[in-house]
Amino acid sequence: KLNADEVNAATSVAGVENTPSERSFIALKPDAIQRGLIADIVGRLERKGFKLVAMKLLTPSKELVEKHYEDLKDRPFYPGLVAYMAQGPVLAMVWQGPGVVKTVRQMLGATNPAQAPSGSIRSDFFLVTGRNGIHASDAHASAEAEIALWFKPSELVDWKRDADQWILS
Ligand code: ADP
Repeated sequence: KLNADEVNAATSVAGVENTPSERSFIALKPDAIQRGLIADIVGRLERKGFKLVAMKLLTPSKELVEKHYEDLKDRPFYPGLVAYMAQGPVLAMVWQGPGVVKTVRQMLGATNPAQAPSGSIRSDFFLVTGRNGIHASDAHASAEAEIALWFKPSELVDWKRDADQWILS
C-alpha cells in the first residue's frame, strides 16, 4: 500500500477521486473581495486541512468568465453574472486533498444562501444567489477543466507540507 506522499507523487494530476491529490478550483467572487472576507473564507479551507496549491488575485476578462460559466449561457441571469464576475477582482485558487471537490461543495452550502445550511460559508456570509461570494467546482471533471482554464501548469506549486503526517495517513 502506498503512503500519502507516494500516492501524491504518483498522481500529480488525480485520475481518481478521493486520493490525497484530488484537486478543486475555488474562487472568491468580487463581492467577497470587496467585503474583506478573504481571510475568513480562505481560513476555513486552510483549517479544514486542505492544501493550497495555487492562488492569484485577478480581474478576469469577460471571455474567461463567459467560458467558465458557458453551461449557463442560455439562462436569463447569465449577462448579469458575467458582468458581476468580470468587474473583479476574483481570488482564484486550487486546493488539494482527499474528497476536496465534494467536501468543499458541502462547506459552501446551496447556491442560494437563504437555502444553505447554517454554518456553511454561503449561509454565514451571504444573503442572495446573485451575490453568493464563492465558487467551487461541482465534479472532478469540471475541477480539472476549470483549473486548466484559470491557471497555467507552471502556476501550480508542487510542495511538501510537513503537517500532512498529522492530517493524512
Ligand atoms: P453554483 O455556483 O452553486 O455551482 P450554478 O452553477 O447553478 O451554482 O450557478 C453559478 C452561479 O450563477 C451561482 O453561484 C450564482 O452566482 C449565479 N446564479 C445562479 N442562479 C442565479 C439566479 N437565479 N440569479 C442570479 N444569479 C444566479
